[in-house]
Amino acid sequence: LDTLHGTLHDLVAQREVLGPCYRLFYQKPLHLVSGRGTRLFDSDGTEYLDMYNNIPSIGHSNPCVTKAVTEQLTKINTHTRYVHQNILAYANDLLATLPPSLDRIMFMCSGSEANDLAIRCAQLYTLGEGIIVTAEAYHGNTALVSGVSPSIGKDVPMSPTMRMIPTPDTYRLGTDDIGTWMRDRVAEQIADMKRHGIRFAGVLFDSIFSSDGVIPGKPGFLQPVIDLVHAEGGLYIADEVQPGFCRTGDTFWGFQRHDITPDIVTMGKPMANGIACSGMAIRHDVLEAFAERNPYFNTFAGNPVAMAAAQAVLDYLREHDMLSHVSHMGKLLVNGISNLAKEHPCLGDVRGAGLFTGTDIVIPGTKDPDRATAVKLIEALREHHVLISLCGPYGSVLKVRPPLVFSESDLDFFLSALDASLTDIGK
Ligand code: PMP
Repeated sequence: LDTLHGTLHDLVAQREVLGPCYRLFYQKPLHLVSGRGTRLFDSDGTEYLDMYNNIPSIGHSNPCVTKAVTEQLTKINTHTRYVHQNILAYANDLLATLPPSLDRIMFMCSGSEANDLAIRCAQLYTLGEGIIVTAEAYHGNTALVSGVSPSIGKDVPMSPTMRMIPTPDTYRLGTDDIGTWMRDRVAEQIADMKRHGIRFAGVLFDSIFSSDGVIPGKPGFLQPVIDLVHAEGGLYIADEVQPGFCRTGDTFWGFQRHDITPDIVTMGKPMANGIACSGMAIRHDVLEAFAERNPYFNTFAGNPVAMAAAQAVLDYLREHDMLSHVSHMGKLLVNGISNLAKEHPCLGDVRGAGLFTGTDIVIPGTKDPDRATAVKLIEALREHHVLISLCGPYGSVLKVRPPLVFSESDLDFFLSALDASLTDIGK
């Protein structure tokens, strides 16, 4: 095992033991060994600004989480078959951030598990099977959820009762009324289900459409869509794995930007700042339809340590008024990138909500996606000590999603690096 302390090259070679499924970022992979706030450090001591990670939302190695987890670990860590105050305190605290009709909450370990259970609940409640998602959606990796995640890879089988609507690409669709456009697409798919004898169970939408290219749209645009879903007897499952926990600014949850009420809300990623923890909030009557036939146990989910970490995150978000901070920084971020777009015409549409922005990298003078330039830009930014990534149907949308503790000096650093990187690659 001594060889495990070898060079980066040795470590990459030794990854063969992990098999071929995992993918690394960057042509020259990164070996990160520590993090603090928005900053990450590699094994050579080089510092990077993290513009990508939404999981450590209150900052890498946040001492509040470390303290909460350590204290709880020294006491006990068990599971939901015993009573514990941590899960009850957190459940009540978190439900208070949600609409009153969502009055039950259960915990899992990953966003995939939360969506898996949400779909099962929706299907049992409606006695339907049909689920509608967007064309580039990613909702997780269980057998059930990967079947409704079209972006997962072309060889993964899609569920025969899943229907897709096109990505609500506000940049290219050329409509001011994306809500009506989207409602009509959903109506078409419900009609298609009827033709095939599939009963509609509901929609599963991430309200900022992260993997579709980060599409916040105008606040409220989802209203007509969800009204239709309910009129057709379906449920609205809000996948808040990405937009939840203050990420989109102004409101705690992404769906609240639209003033709509989901029947089920799933959450994960930033919930416990990197400790495995996810959840599903749900109307009690919807849950009862499931619970009549199924118990649910998930070994590690909702354990006292995970709940302590999640509570520390929620407390931190409130005590530091992160919602206002995110709204403020989000506006500066979009303005900053938009200003650079005036000098660098490959930066197309710049859009965002809170600290989640998407910038289309295009062939100048057109809206044509330019994946090759986007990939070069990511590599160049790394040379300028900024870690960032891409998303969207063509892999050409710059996805900017830093930890929420992102500061004005981080923003200056990022904008200078973006400017310099675009100049380096001749754009
Ligand atoms: N939903 C969304 C919107 C996601 O982005 C992801 C993860 N990228 C998931 C669900 C699945 O979460 P996990 O990886 O924790 O299973």
